[in-house]
Amino acid sequence: MKRMARATIAGGIRRFWSAIPKIVYLGRRPSVLFIALTRKCNANCVFCAYQFATTEQRAHMPWEIFDQVIEEIKRNGIREVMLSPNIGEPTIAPDVIEKIKRLRRAGVRHIAMTTNALYFNKIGLDQLLTNGPDSIDISFAGFDKEMYERDFRVKHYEKTRDNILGLLRANKKLARPRVINLRLRGDGSVEEMMAKPEMAEVRQLANSISAMTEVDNWLGLIEEEALPMGYKLQSNSPPLSHLPCRMLQDLTVHPDGDIHLCSCRNVSGDPDMHIGNLRHMPLIEAHRKIPDVLKKWEQGRPPKSCQTCSMYNDPAPGLVGRVRQVWAKRWFRRAA
Ligand code: SF4
Ligand code: SF4
Repeated sequence: MKRMARATIAGGIRRFWSAIPKIVYLGRRPSVLFIALTRKCNANCVFCAYQFATTEQRAHMPWEIFDQVIEEIKRNGIREVMLSPNIGEPTIAPDVIEKIKRLRRAGVRHIAMTTNALYFNKIGLDQLLTNGPDSIDISFAGFDKEMYERDFRVKHYEKTRDNILGLLRANKKLARPRVINLRLRGDGSVEEMMAKPEMAEVRQLANSISAMTEVDNWLGLIEEEALPMGYKLQSNSPPLSHLPCRMLQDLTVHPDGDIHLCSCRNVSGDPDMHIGNLRHMPLIEAHRKIPDVLKKWEQGRPPKSCQTCSMYNDPAPGLVGRVRQVWAKRWFRRAA
């Protein structure tokens, strides 16, 4: 019943999408920010575009840019940040915990990251749970050494396994201060991955578990022949509609200060989604440029990358939640 109602509402929203003023779902200022603290990674997954990143793209965000990000967060009252847009392992960013502390001091209320768990022991499990992100999504091939080494192409299975189990156990001991989700991305079947003995404990301790059975081709970069046997390339991609992809509604700041749209598949800085650079453009100005990209899409000219992307995200079903998220902080501020 609920699903039917939601689909009917989404259908109505879809029909009148371009008539909805963009400020309704974008807000006057950015409310969410994707920050690439680093675009370097300590793994080299077969299914990820990281393997094609240039040396120039593989960079950490310098303090100078991070300080500017902090100023912009304060200025705009941004309350939500995500630390792992498209490629890069956030835990290897220099001084990552200090940076997360600064984000909190700047007023951010929710910090999320996706991580491969390989570096947890270097940061310290207690440190990560006490001062780290609120929500941690762990991307892992599964509790199988050979599969892990084949898919993530690094030789640290035991360490990674111990880091994952250790973090979940420590989180329980501290009365679960953090949300920890396990995202299985191995080349085995879901049944096989879920049946590993370690999974019994993970089921008790993780907030959620999901398993990916198909991988996306990252705008054509990943070819089926290059993948281990068990992986399948995603076959049915959602078709683009006249509604601009949901991923075009938020800004992403890269280590060099470049401001882009799409924290998902825009790995190579598509000029159609490039907004400016933080060194010369405050975030509010970047935010005001988002409607130009959206309007072009509505006129039948989506960014080049989107035309071959299989990760199109229809914004209609999430519109109500999005509006609530965008305007909540304004009401909160006014009431305070
Ligand atoms: S999926 Fe994540 S861990 Fe794997 S190479 Fe890409 S950025 Fe690194
Ligand atoms: S269609 Fe793909 S590339 Fe375009 S904004 Fe969406 S996720 Fe990004």
